[in-house]
Amino acid sequence: MPELPEIEIIKNIISPYLKGYNINYSIVRNKKLKYLIPKEIININNQKIINIKRRGRYIIFLLQNNSIIVHLGMTGNLLIIKKYKKILKNDHIDLIINNNIILRYSDIRKFGFWIWSDKNYKKNKFLNKLGPEPLNNKFNSTYLYQITQIKKIPIKVLLMMNEIVVGIGNIYSNESLFISKILPYRKSNTLTFIEIDILVKNIKHILYISIKNGGTSICNYIDPYGKKGNFSKFLFVYGRNNKLCKICKTKIFKMIHRNRSTFFCSICQI
Ligand SMILES: [Zn+2]
Repeated sequence: MPELPEIEIIKNIISPYLKGYNINYSIVRNKKLKYLIPKEIININNQKIINIKRRGRYIIFLLQNNSIIVHLGMTGNLLIIKKYKKILKNDHIDLIINNNIILRYSDIRKFGFWIWSDKNYKKNKFLNKLGPEPLNNKFNSTYLYQITQIKKIPIKVLLMMNEIVVGIGNIYSNESLFISKILPYRKSNTLTFIEIDILVKNIKHILYISIKNGGTSICNYIDPYGKKGNFSKFLFVYGRNNKLCKICKTKIFKMIHRNRSTFFCSICQI
C-alpha cells in the first residue's frame, strides 16, 4: 500500500501537468472500485484544476467549485500518459486534460476510490477526522508522548492509526521503530519521553529520505512516469525476515500482529 512518501511523490509529479489546466472529460471503464464512481466524475466536462493537494494518503484535485478526492487503496497507480499507450485490463479511469496528456488510474485489486466533494474537502467525512501530518510541526514529541501515555496499546499499532498521525503505514512504522531501537509490540505507555522524542525525529527523517529516493516499491508501486522507487534498498527490517540485521547480523523476525506483518530485530530493539 502506498504510504505518505509515495503519495507525496505522485502529487509532486502530476501537479505541473494538471494545475491550471482543464479536465476536458473522463473515460470511466469500470464504475465499481471500492465505491461506485460518482456520476459527477463520470460526466465531468471542461473543469479547471485549480490545485493538487495531499492530505495523509489522499490526493485532492481542487476544481473551481468542487473537488475530487482520490485514495489509491492497496494497488492504485496514477500515470501521466503523453502518447498513445495500450489500455490494460486494470486501467479504470482516464482524465483527458486540455494539454494533450491523460491522467490514467489503474488498480489491480480495486480497493482504491474516487469521491466527489465540495470545495471544502477538509470537511469531507473521509478527511475530517485525520490526525496531523507527520512532517508538520503539530506532530511533535509532546503531542505523541501525551497520546502514548493515554492509549496503552502497542506502539506500532498506534503509529498506524490515522486519527493520531496520517500516512505512516506498515513499511514506515516498522522501519522507524527499528531505527529508534523500540520493539513494535511494546505498550505505548512504557515508552519514555526520550524514546518518543527519538522516534518522532526518526519518523520525520525516514519519510523525508524516502521521498528523496522515490519511495518504496513493495507490491506494485510505480510513480506517474512508471518508475519504481529506490527506497527499498535502504530498508532495515521491512520484508527482510530471516535475512541478517544490517547492524548486529542476527536474523530479522517476522510476526503477524493484528493482521499486519511486523518485522524486528530482537537484539537491536528493546
Ligand atoms: Zn540487529
